[in-house]
Amino acid sequence: MEKRIIVIGGGVIGCAMARLLSRYEAKVTVLEGGEDVAHGASKANSGIVHAGFDAKPGSLKAKLNVEGARMYPELCKEVDAPYGQPGAMVLAFSQEERATVQELYKQGEQNGVAGQRIIEKDEILKLEPNVNPNVVCALLEPMSGLTSPYELTCALADHAAVNGATFVMNAKVQTIEKNGDGFALHTTKGEYTADLIVNCAGVFSAELHNQLSEKKLHIIPRKGEYYLLDHQKDLLFTMTMFQTPTKMGKGILVSPTVHGNTLLGPSADDIEDGTDVSTTAAALKIVNEKARLTWPGLSLRTVVTTFAGVRAHEENGDFIIGATEGVQGSYETIGIESPGLSAAPAIAKLLTEQIISENGLAEKKEWKPAPKREKPFYAMTLEERVDVVKRNPEYGALVCRCEQVTEAEIRAAIRRPVGATTIDGVKRRTRAGMGRCQGGFCSPRVLEILSEELGVAPTEVTKCGGESRILTGTIAQSMHKGDA
Ligand SMILES: Cc1cc2nc3c(=O)[nH]c(=O)nc-3n(C[C@H](O)[C@H](O)[C@H](O)COP(=O)(O)OP(=O)(O)OC[C@H]3O[C@@H](n4cnc5c(N)ncnc54)[C@H](O)[C@@H]3O)c2cc1C
Repeated sequence: MEKRIIVIGGGVIGCAMARLLSRYEAKVTVLEGGEDVAHGASKANSGIVHAGFDAKPGSLKAKLNVEGARMYPELCKEVDAPYGQPGAMVLAFSQEERATVQELYKQGEQNGVAGQRIIEKDEILKLEPNVNPNVVCALLEPMSGLTSPYELTCALADHAAVNGATFVMNAKVQTIEKNGDGFALHTTKGEYTADLIVNCAGVFSAELHNQLSEKKLHIIPRKGEYYLLDHQKDLLFTMTMFQTPTKMGKGILVSPTVHGNTLLGPSADDIEDGTDVSTTAAALKIVNEKARLTWPGLSLRTVVTTFAGVRAHEENGDFIIGATEGVQGSYETIGIESPGLSAAPAIAKLLTEQIISENGLAEKKEWKPAPKREKPFYAMTLEERVDVVKRNPEYGALVCRCEQVTEAEIRAAIRRPVGATTIDGVKRRTRAGMGRCQGGFCSPRVLEILSEELGVAPTEVTKCGGESRILTGTIAQSMHKGDA
């Protein structure tokens, strides 16, 4: 009989797992606690596909980072997700930091990173004129890439769904019981049973693990806060600019995003509550001060938003990937902090290979390709725009002016296999609301389109699920209550 596999968590790891598992004869279901995929760290990180020089040689992080980074260009082409490889530098501002850069270079060699070299001040300033002229030297990492983490996660989910995987949102797994040969999962959306489970619950993965295993694990949620600057005509930095790492992580970076914005951050603070993605004046002050060391000309005038993500830091420091010790049929990915995004394709490959070999899953006769999307309107030439509007007049209705997103693209995002159901879901799939007005102009129209496409009243449409409704009621209702 076909095995029933439940993947817990629809982040980049859960969706990459669901995509690969959908290639085999099995019934794959993803249970996601949030209202959409990419609800945790996968929607709020630096988006860097690290080359792999930073992880400790011999660790799973090092091996899977380098392997995952090599898989990125092909994967992003296959699932139609953004990817670029502009390279990165680790800047040294003192002789002491030069020694760190030399150490990182050696680590990169041991980890098998290609093309890296140490460059001196003149070359740095020629490549990146906005860098602080007090820079001493830098480690140049040409293999460092960029992606859009939430767009990639959505694309992986779509590919899994066209191959039969089912996604259930708002289904937070509360308890798991080993039930004979299988599992009973009690969720906020009812009961589910499975033959195999794959725990990809990010910052909450250790809590679920501890329900099943005698060997207890502990994740420390580590918050990182960012400033996001608007895109400019010319990139302020063409590559990712790192400073030398600290014991809390890779330090504050100044980086272009794959969409041409500039990102400053992240801070690194251990917190109690893994759901706390608030931004704070204190952490952002540190980001601003530290980013100035890289970029003395920094001005916060073009900031469009601030945001935070929470890293799943396992106290022993490495990824934990594989079968749950002593629990037949349970698999897990725990402590997937940075470079988890970079390593995601390799993590999914490693764990899927283990699951199929241990459970004898046969490959399907047909694995459908990922659905293709139209090129985004903002990236089209004038001729392409004229042509696409002729084919579909909804491309002629610009909804988000800042990011040039059309009605046709918003409707398409809602109709995708794992489509948007909220205003933020539309934003992550199309960029509507990502620009300098942060949805001030386009949100009402996006709300209307969501209401039409989903067949729900406008008052039911939310920003990001739960009680985050935009409209509190109709005028008729409030007059009836006597509020008008
Ligand atoms: C500030 C920051 C910067 C980073 N920068 C980079 C970078 O530049 N490059 C890089 O390679 N990596 C980076 N990372 C790491 C990267 O973001 C993560 O490794 C990756 O996103 C982890 O994906 P995940 O699927 O394991 O976790 P998540 O994306 O957190 O997904 C877990 C999912 O599980 C769901 N969930 C949790 N509990 C339950 C439950 N009980 N039931 C059902 N669903 C549940 C959550 O809602 C969530 O959607 C960064 C991380 C942070 C926070």
